[in-house]
Formats: sequence, structure tokens, C-alpha cells
Amino acid sequence: METHIKEQDNRVVDVKNLFISFRTFKGYTKVLNGVNLHVRRKEKIAIVGETGCGKTTTVYAIAQILAKQARVDGGEIFFKGRDSLRMNEKELKQLRASGISVIFQDPIASLNPVFTIGDQMAEVIRYSGIEGARDPRVQRERTVAALRETSLPDPERLMENYPFQLSGGMRQRICIAMSLATPRDLVIADEPTTNLDVTIQDQVLKILRQRVEEKQSALILITHSLGVAREVADRIYVMYAGNMVETAGAEELFRECLHPYSRGLMSCIPKLSGGGIASGIPGHLPSYYAPPPGCRFEPRCPHAMPRCKQAMPPMYEAAPGHCVACYLYERGTSA
Ligand code: SF4
Repeated sequence: METHIKEQDNRVVDVKNLFISFRTFKGYTKVLNGVNLHVRRKEKIAIVGETGCGKTTTVYAIAQILAKQARVDGGEIFFKGRDSLRMNEKELKQLRASGISVIFQDPIASLNPVFTIGDQMAEVIRYSGIEGARDPRVQRERTVAALRETSLPDPERLMENYPFQLSGGMRQRICIAMSLATPRDLVIADEPTTNLDVTIQDQVLKILRQRVEEKQSALILITHSLGVAREVADRIYVMYAGNMVETAGAEELFRECLHPYSRGLMSCIPKLSGGGIASGIPGHLPSYYAPPPGCRFEPRCPHAMPRCKQAMPPMYEAAPGHCVACYLYERGTSA
């Protein structure tokens, strides 16, 4: 299948107006509500937002690994210029084997407990389609190199180990090595440090960032921590209840975040200088069974106006490259 759509300004992924709902025993939950997002070649972006805001659904849709209960109600997902929602099985297989790799939150669940690390890495290389992928010598060389590149000691010995013999930090580094053992256009890392010791988190993020840069892949990092996003990403998307509410370069967002929800998130970051306990954001995410018809943040927003209840605000470009979905910034051009 050919869509003949040119890659726009080097975009590896371009999600346009994506709506996704999930079938449940009580009906359909309207989770994604017109998501727009893109990532360019060699770019690192982060999607930030509280648990349940749709971050994982967005990236699972991009990787085409959504649960069976999910339904795409509208929108497009272009991968290197081609609409992946219209790919056939063979093309999807190829997309997952050599186009996109996903590093999951829980490394123990990502690794098969009954196979050695060497066997599992060889399997990934075998199906990647690279030259010599079926040759055991090539598989071994690539595995050793990938483990070494992620600063794992004694790769030859490590290949003989089973996942349960390794620490959480080592297992996550193996997942990174596995996802970058063969060339990938896009790496998706879904909260890769959540289950790790704080002292290991920093190390794992550093390795992830370095490896993605060396391989010149694009990266989408999912995190609920703005601090982690700032450390890794060039650009940040703030997500709330199925919508991207703000996007800007990482430094710009930290210098001046605009959306009331982003400001609330910022206020949750503990300050080293003290200044009291973070206030948090009062209220909680709306129900996805019957979300507010206008701005989904309206029930929690300290600046809500009558019109916010009526229609969802579009994205306004408040400054070059800094877009915000909020009527307070209407003077900006609609992005
Ligand atoms: Fe608040 Fe209205 Fe802006 Fe939504 S659109 S964030 S309710 S001011």
C-alpha cells in the first residue's frame, strides 16, 4: 500500500486529530479527544501529564499495539509519511520489527523469564531485517556491542543470564540495549524509570538519551515528571484528559508555561530552596464516559469562563513554537 504522502519537514511521526475510545462493560470511554503531535528525525520529545491522561494510549496507537477494546473514532497517524492506520498486516509487522521499538515501564514484564538475555536479544535481531540478521555470529556480535554500549559489564557472561538473575536497573538497560540493537526510526519509552531506584533512574535516562542521539533515532518519552522530561527532551507536550494542552521547547516551557494545567503541574515540583509543600491541583480527571463538552480542564480551572464549558479551545500559537489550547491566549494565531 502506498499513500504517496511526503514526509513533512523530516517528521517521523505525525498524529493528526486522533480520537480513540475504549469499549467497557458500561459503554465507551472517550479517551483521546483530537490529539495532535509530531516528532522529527533526531528529535526527543516528552509527553507529560498525570496518570490516566492518555499518554500511553497515544503512544500505543503510534506503535499499533492498542488493546482489542480500543476503537479509533477518527484521525490519522503518519509514520514516515504513510498512514499506519491503513497499513496491512505485513506492513504493520515490518513497522513493529524495524521501524518502532517500545521500552515499557516494567522491564521484568518485557523480558521472557524462561529465555536467557542472549536468546532474547538474538530473536529481536533475527526479525529486524538487517543484513545477516539470521546468522548467529552476527546476532552475537550485535548483542555484545549493544550490551557494551549501554554500559553493562561483562556482556558475554550477561548473555547467559536469565532476567531474574539481574537487578531492576540492569534489566531496564537490557531493554534499552534490545530496542537499539538494530536501527530504529523511533524509540518510545513509556515511564522507563518508574520502577527503579532513584540512584539508578538518572543513569538509565542518561544512557537512553545518549543511545538515541548516537543512533539518530527519534524519541518519544512518556513521563509524569516534568523534571525527567526537561532532562531528556528537546520539546515537551503537556497532556490533560485526552488532549494536548500545551507544547513548547523544554527550556521555553520551564521559563514560561502558560496553560493553567501546566502551571499547576509546575507548582507540584518541590523546590530545593524550600517554600512550603507543593499545593498540587485540586480536583481530579473527568470521567471519560461523559467528559465535559468544552475544555476538559474547566471543572478544575481557576480561570474558567462561561465559554470554556461550551466548546473545546483550539491550539493558539502564543509565541513561535509555543502553542497552548486555552481561550486565555486567543490573541495568538490558531495553530
Ligand atoms: Fe481554563 Fe478556559 Fe483555559 Fe480551559 S480554556 S484552561 S477552562 S481558561
